Parts: sequence; structure tokens; C-alpha cells
Amino acid sequence: MTPLARTPVAAAVRALRAELNGGSHADLGSEVTELSSLLLERELRRFATVRDPAEQELLSGLPDSAAIVSKDGRVRTCNAAFDTLAAGGRAAGMTPLEVTRSAALSEAVKRALEGSARRLEVELPRRVLSVQLTPLLRGEVLLLARDVTEEKRAAATRRDFVANASHELRTPVAAIRGAAETLLGGALDQPAAARTFVEIINRQAERLARLTQDLLDLSRLESRQWRFETAPVDLAGLATTVLELHGPAALTKGLALRSDVPSGLVAQADPRALEQVVFNLVDNAVKYTATGAVTIEAAARGEHLELTVADTGPGIEPHHLARIFERFYRVDSGRAREAGGTGLGLAIAKHLAQGMGGEITAASGAAGTRFMVRLRSASAQGG
Ligand code: ADP
Repeated sequence: MTPLARTPVAAAVRALRAELNGGSHADLGSEVTELSSLLLERELRRFATVRDPAEQELLSGLPDSAAIVSKDGRVRTCNAAFDTLAAGGRAAGMTPLEVTRSAALSEAVKRALEGSARRLEVELPRRVLSVQLTPLLRGEVLLLARDVTEEKRAAATRRDFVANASHELRTPVAAIRGAAETLLGGALDQPAAARTFVEIINRQAERLARLTQDLLDLSRLESRQWRFETAPVDLAGLATTVLELHGPAALTKGLALRSDVPSGLVAQADPRALEQVVFNLVDNAVKYTATGAVTIEAAARGEHLELTVADTGPGIEPHHLARIFERFYRVDSGRAREAGGTGLGLAIAKHLAQGMGGEITAASGAAGTRFMVRLRSASAQGG
């Protein structure tokens, strides 16, 4: 290297020193300016390939998926949670678009690399992420992604529930108001007509009472405020009690009620909850069966007991059968409402059965429908 070749560099160094000491702006010349940007570029590249342990420790400690996106738009480093977002399980070196396939996220990262912080929700095929993008010094971007799929689903379920419940409550309230207004408008003075409207009010008030009770039960069950207290329950006795309660309704329809429960089958269950489960099942069987019989059966199945409510009704088609335990789900909403149903009976029965450590399932065909309740056996509990 000749002394001449060093001259522009030496001159630039002198000029820069003078500027930093308060002198005028140093004109470095094009060669030296290029040299300085090459040196900077080399530093940045070196930095891009280095995994800083302190940075790694910080990212691993974050509760969210976290990544640092470098100036070239690629993930420089990330934590394990972020790696799981990538199809191959490794996100470093990929662009956020390659990792998530979300154009919206890719666009937001570009904007963040230009310096503006952003927050956005990204919908992936199977999950929803709440993403925060923060520009960092050195022109990089910190990407934090929180999985809000479950939160969103719970919020949607709550919204649906409130909408459904309001809709269900509105119908009887409107009917009561209509009947009361008709009475006040003159029907009170015509005894025959008055009786019809008072009967409507009575029927709809009963429906309201059933609905509010079911809603209360369901809300206590779903928020786990229902206290289950298990004790030995004799299934033959329980079947007799529940069938007796449905005697009058079955008699009116000409339905036979039968108990085919051997004596000596004792379940370990909450007596009140189990009675409600069987009551709801027999109630449905009687409601939806036009002719034939409703039978309660029970048998020991290994460690468990199985109680079945069988009817000779119209049956439930398979695509409905998969959904009947959902709250407010009805096969034929008009007919079910007419029959006095709230659409909550099976949802409550299912929660109650599960709360006692059991399970409830349904099978249906041309011969009718069978609901099976699996219960703990009292003898398997040692008592
Ligand atoms: P509902 O109060 O409307 O009876 P449920 O949750 O108890 O509500 O039942 C949900 C739906 O399942 C009912 O609306 C009815 O369409 C159907 N279903 C329940 N039990 C039977 C049955 N034994 N036979 C035929 N359909 C039934």
C-alpha cells in the first residue's frame, strides 16, 4: 500500500475529527463514504448471524410467541413458541409471510420496519393471533404473537348464548303482553274469551318459569357453582319415582311407561342431579313419542352401571343426533316449543351426568331413540 493510497483516508479522518471538535461539516468524498457504508454493512451482517444469549434468554422468558425480524424482513431470532408457527418447526431465516401465510401480517411487518408500531389480529386457518409489532433500534422489529383462539371462541359462545336466551324469553313475554292487552281492551267483560286469554297467560308464565329455571341451572353448571354430593342411589327406586311423575302425561297420550331395572343396582351419584337427568330424558321421551312405550332399563357394565331411557318415537336423524346436546338445539323448533321444550333439557342432563363422573350418549333409529347414562357403581367405590 503506497502512502498516496492512504491520503484520502487520512484526509477524511482529519476532516471528521475537526467536525466532531466543533468544526464545519466534513466532506469525505465518494470513496470514503462508500467505505464507511461497506463497513457498516459488514457489521450488520455479522450481527445478523450472531445469536446473542441474553437476547435468546429474554425471548424464551416471554409468555407469547416472539421473534425479532431484521431489516431484510426475515426472522433473525425467535423463541420456541414462535418456531411452532412455522410448518417445519423452525422459523429463523424465514419471512413472517412464509411462517404464517398471512399477507396482512407481512404488510404490517413491512410498515413496522419503516418505523411505525402496530397491533393487529391475524386469522390463521386454525387459530387467531393477536400480534404486536414494535420497531427497535437498529431498524429491527420485535414481533409478539398471543394465541387468542380460545378467548375468541368463548366470547362468541357467550354472545350466541345471550342472543338465544333473549330470543327465547321474548316469545312468552310477548304472548303474555298480547293476552293482557286484549283482556284490558274489553275481553275481560266476555267471560268465555277472558278465560282463553288467562289460560294463555298462565301457560306462557309457566314456560317463562321453566326457561329461567333451566337458564339458572345451566349457568350454575357451566360456571361450576353446582355442588355435587354423591351418595348411593338405588336405580329401581329412582326409575319408579320418575315414571310416577310422568304417569298423567303418558296416560293422556295412551303411552305405556315401563321399568325394566333389576333390583340391587346401586349407583354412586348425586341423587337430586341423577333424578333430574332421568326426569329430563323421560320427559323428552313422553313429549316426542306419539304411540307405544317409554322404558327405563339398567344393567351393570364392567365397573360401571348403565341406565337407559328408550322410546318408540320418531327417532332422531344422525345429523341432528350429533347436535342435540347443544344448548337451544332443537330438531323441529316449532314442534319442540309447542311441546313445551326449552331446548336446554339435554344440555343440562349432559352437564349433570359429567359432573357425577358419568357420561350420556344417544342412539336412534326407526324403532325409536335410546339415551344411555353411564354411572359410577356404588359397589366399585367400596360402598
Ligand atoms: P327440548 O326442551 O326442546 O326438548 P332438549 O335439549 O331436551 O330440548 O332436546 C333437544 C332436542 O332433541 C329436542 O328439541 C328434540 O328435537 C330432540 N329430542 C330429544 N329427545 C328426543 C326423543 N326422545 N325423541 C325424539 N327427539 C328428541
